[in-house]
Amino acid sequence: MTGAYLEVDETVLQRNIAAIQQHVAPAELMCVVKDDAYGLGLAAVVRAAQQQGVDWIGTYDVATALHTRTAAGEQVRIFAWATSTSTEVEGALRSRIDLGVGSADYLRTVIRVAETIRVSARVHLKIDTGLHRNGFSPEQWTDAVAQAMQAERRGVVQLVGVWSHLSEADDSADDASQLIFQSAVAEAQRAGAAIEHTHLTASAASWLRPELRGNLVRMGGYCYGVRSTDGPDIEGIVPAASLCAPVVAIADDTVTVAIGYLDGIPHTLAGRVNAGTPGGGQPVLAIDATTTTIQRWPHAHIGDRVVIYGPGTQGEPSPTTAAETIGTVGEEMMTRISPLLPRRYVVQQHPEPA
Ligand SMILES: *Cc1c(COP(=O)(O)O)cnc(C)c1O
Repeated sequence: MTGAYLEVDETVLQRNIAAIQQHVAPAELMCVVKDDAYGLGLAAVVRAAQQQGVDWIGTYDVATALHTRTAAGEQVRIFAWATSTSTEVEGALRSRIDLGVGSADYLRTVIRVAETIRVSARVHLKIDTGLHRNGFSPEQWTDAVAQAMQAERRGVVQLVGVWSHLSEADDSADDASQLIFQSAVAEAQRAGAAIEHTHLTASAASWLRPELRGNLVRMGGYCYGVRSTDGPDIEGIVPAASLCAPVVAIADDTVTVAIGYLDGIPHTLAGRVNAGTPGGGQPVLAIDATTTTIQRWPHAHIGDRVVIYGPGTQGEPSPTTAAETIGTVGEEMMTRISPLLPRRYVVQQHPEPA
C-alpha cells in the first residue's frame, strides 16, 4: 500500500443507519445512494443498509437502481426519480423499480412503456411544493392524478406514493410546503388512489422536524455521517469515510503526503484546515497535483497515516467542517473524490455499543 485511499468503516455506516431508524420511527428510512453512495461505494452501503433491515434504497437514476437491484436482490424496494428515457423506463419496470414522476410528459412515457411491456408500474407522483425543481404544480395536480388513476384502472399503473422535496432553507417555507403536500395526498386519496408511501424530507428536516415527516424519509448525508452545513452535530452520527494518505517525505519543518488535487481534494483547503496525524491535528500548508504538505510533528515517520477528513480520531475535520472553510458542503467534498482512488472497506471486530 503506497498511495492514498478512502477508508469506509462499515460498522460506522451500520450504526449511523441504526441511529436514524430509531430516531425517525415509525417513519421508515429510504437510504439515498446517489453518486455511488456519495463516493463511498454503492455495494458496501447497500450491504450495510440491508444488514440493518432497511427496506428502501433511493438511487436518483435508473442505472444505479439496476445496479442496486443486482446487489440487493428482491428484498428491497428501490426508488428512482430522475426523468428517464423509454429504454431506461423499460429496464426499470422489468426490474421492479418504483418510479418518481414529476411531469406530464414523463407520466405519459411511463404509462406507454408499461402498456407496451404489459407490466404495472409502481408510481410516486411528485408535487412541487415550492422548490420549482421538477414536480407537478398544484394547478396541474388534479390532471396528473386523473391520468395516473385512468392508467391504474387499465392495470398499467399503481399510484402508490406522493412525494416532494423541501428547500430546507427556512422553517416557515417548509411548513407552507407541507400544507401543499398534505392537500395533494388527500386529493389523490379522494380520487381513489391507495397511497402507501408519503415522503417529503431529506436528512436535516427528517431529523430535526419530525412533524414534517411522511411515513418514509429519504436520507443520504446522515447515513454517511455528513452533517448539514451550518447544522448541528448530531449525537450518534459519525463520518463513515476517512480520506487517508501516507507520509512519503519528511523535511525539517514539513512532511509530504501522497494525495493531491488530482485525487479530488480542493487545493483551497491549504491554509484553512488541519490534517489528522499521529501527532494530532497539524496545519495543511499546500496542496499540489499529487502531494500535500503538512506541518511536521514530533516523531513523524515515512508511511505514517495522515487523514484529510474523517471522524476526527487523529485531529482531522469532518467533511462538512472542511467544506465550510471553503464555502461548500460536505456532500460536495465527498462526491468530488476521484472514482479512481482506491476504496478500502473495514469492519470493526469488537464494535463498542452504539
Ligand atoms: C439527495 C436527495 C435526498 C437526500 O438528501 P440528504 O440531504 O443527503 O439526506 C433526498 N431526496 C432527494 C430528492 C434528493 O435528491
